[in-house]
Amino acid sequence: MQTKSFDVVIVGAGPAGATAAFFLRQQGLDVALLDKATFPREKTCGDGLTPRAIGVLDEIGILDDLLVEGCKMDEATVFAPNGTPVTTQMPIREDHPPIMLAIPRYKLDNFILQKAVEAGADLCEGINVQDVQIEANGVKVVGRYKGQQMVINGRMGIMAVGASMGLLKRMGILKKTPTLTLAARAYYEGVQDLSGRFEFYFEGIPLPGYGWVFPLSENTANIGAGIFEIRNRKKDNRTAQMVMEQFLNIPKMKHHLAHAKRVGPIKGYPIRTDFATAPTYAQNLMLAGEAAGLVNPLTGEGIDYALESGKIAAQHLGLMFKSGDFSDAQLEQYDQKLRAHFHEQVRFCERIRDWYLHKPIINRLVNVAKKRDQFRELFTDIVLGNVAAKEAMTFKTVSQILLTR
Ligand SMILES: Cc1cc2nc3c(=O)[nH]c(=O)nc-3n(C[C@H](O)[C@H](O)[C@H](O)COP(=O)(O)OP(=O)(O)OC[C@H]3O[C@@H](n4cnc5c(N)ncnc54)[C@H](O)[C@@H]3O)c2cc1C
Repeated sequence: MQTKSFDVVIVGAGPAGATAAFFLRQQGLDVALLDKATFPREKTCGDGLTPRAIGVLDEIGILDDLLVEGCKMDEATVFAPNGTPVTTQMPIREDHPPIMLAIPRYKLDNFILQKAVEAGADLCEGINVQDVQIEANGVKVVGRYKGQQMVINGRMGIMAVGASMGLLKRMGILKKTPTLTLAARAYYEGVQDLSGRFEFYFEGIPLPGYGWVFPLSENTANIGAGIFEIRNRKKDNRTAQMVMEQFLNIPKMKHHLAHAKRVGPIKGYPIRTDFATAPTYAQNLMLAGEAAGLVNPLTGEGIDYALESGKIAAQHLGLMFKSGDFSDAQLEQYDQKLRAHFHEQVRFCERIRDWYLHKPIINRLVNVAKKRDQFRELFTDIVLGNVAAKEAMTFKTVSQILLTR
């Protein structure tokens, strides 16, 4: 058995974990970054990056690489259930570039990870963490590495294990399985007439859910579909793969894919969107990214949330190490920072998802968005988390929606 000790041990080297490691190293803390996978590794995802994600990736110093390797877009088109399209531009904001990018996670996650390693994080790949024991003055992380047990001690730990819930349940942090969104995607070559925009489809998809076409180049794309498991949705047995097959059969998709070839299988994976009720810490431990249920409940995008929460966790830990105060009261402050940063947007998007994803309502919203530039921009801003929903949804905006013919 091998044993090592660090200031912070991070379980999971996806965007949340690797970002936390990068920003912890910026503050001079010793960091162990553990993952069961060996990088580069695939992660089932739509591969879409919002302007907020790009803002953090720029801070980490990899935006130039991503612009070379990824496909840059500054517009998105939404297709209403009746097929009507509306195209919106990325709003210009001070804190991040007005662009979106699509880049396979196989590449993206490795870029972030390499920056964490360059910054001095101690990476251990191929270690399956089986237990994290909370001790009076730290955490003891126990994993299986090359057939042997490995123990890594940390004064503090960060759980950044994504939607993989087994470990959190075994530790008693997650009491039950939250309601999940199910999504599936595949890569295609030879896709014709890609618009050069992110395309979101409510057409041909059982609601609440949506399909997407995210171009990766002029003729390759990540195509997928998701279905939200919401509280009032009747139980059915549809899988994400089934929803995706249905989506691929709508005429617009048949056209896109007339001469296309799928590269690799259709892969599905659950998405956690339960931040509103999820725990974000335990004694000597923080949760970041999707492990804290941090994903936009309306769009299913969680990379920006993972990057931002990884950074917030690292900054807060920096303060804790400076003060030497590792109490639960300090961890409660971390929870409050996360809630202050994400709660309102998550609640707004949850409400839209649960109450408004009905065909006539989406058709109407798309109609209003086509006619009212201001509404279109505002809605894009709110969904992307650029502005606070409460301040933005004024009486005037709501009246516009109701009055537009
Ligand atoms: C089909 C689909 C499409 C999506 N599309 C988008 C999109 O277009 N844009 C977007 O922003 N988001 C999208 N998401 C959501 C996004 O993929 C996640 O929210 C994001 O990856 C969360 O990042 P994370 O760092 O928290 O976790 P992850 O990226 O899941 O990383 C967790 C890491 O922890 C490791 N790990 C887990 N358990 C252990 C263990 N026991 N021991 C050691 N290592 C462990 C895993 O190997 C993994 O590397 C999509 C999700 C799905 C399923």
